[in-house]
Amino acid sequence: MKFEELSINPGILRNCRKMGYTTPTKIQQKAIPPVLEGRDLLGLAQTGTGKTAAFALPILDRLAKAPVKGKRPVRALVLTPTRELAIQIVDNFHRYGESLPLKTTVIFGGVKQGAQVEQLKRGTDVLIATPGRLLDLVGQGLLDLGQVEIFVLDEADRMLDMGFIHDVKKISALLVNKQQTLLFSATMPKEISGLAASLLKNPVRVEA
Ligand code: AMP
Repeated sequence: MKFEELSINPGILRNCRKMGYTTPTKIQQKAIPPVLEGRDLLGLAQTGTGKTAAFALPILDRLAKAPVKGKRPVRALVLTPTRELAIQIVDNFHRYGESLPLKTTVIFGGVKQGAQVEQLKRGTDVLIATPGRLLDLVGQGLLDLGQVEIFVLDEADRMLDMGFIHDVKKISALLVNKQQTLLFSATMPKEISGLAASLLKNPVRVEA
């Protein structure tokens, strides 16, 4: 299978080609078509399998179909457990989405919030976040998640190990306009299958 067979925005495909991607990885082949259709997804996949593109490409495709002019509300939220992962993900979104009329911003804890708040004030279509900083900014009234359409929970099992499950549930409850949820986890302990059952509607299950 080639990327061209997935009906993704040609600009995004061009960016993938520039990065040297020719063939979608297994998780990309299985996940991208149902995500493009708007289905919820439970992805069993580790880092290194190409899972970031499996969610980033269809999200960018969807948002680019109806770009918002003026101040952009957050329409896609990606929650990830660590700052390192958050930075990798935002870097990928920037590359896959280069020259599209979309903005992706990252927020994480352990640094002063000022620069992140300034970015959020300018508006962003996609937000990559770690849970603590996200809830902190929402609590201060500096971030509104009421327009989020697509929610990605990345590395759900690590979220659990790091004690973030309660925060994840709180964040999920703020997404009153959510239309699609994608949950990725390398393992499926029973707390995660329980969380998946509560967050996902009739999900497609795919493995890397
Ligand atoms: P990830 O699992 O998303 O962290 O991706 C692991 C690595 O594989 C990253 O360096 C990606 O840039 C790369 N990658 C993702 N998809 C593809 C692909 N279809 N072809 C070649 N490399 C890829």
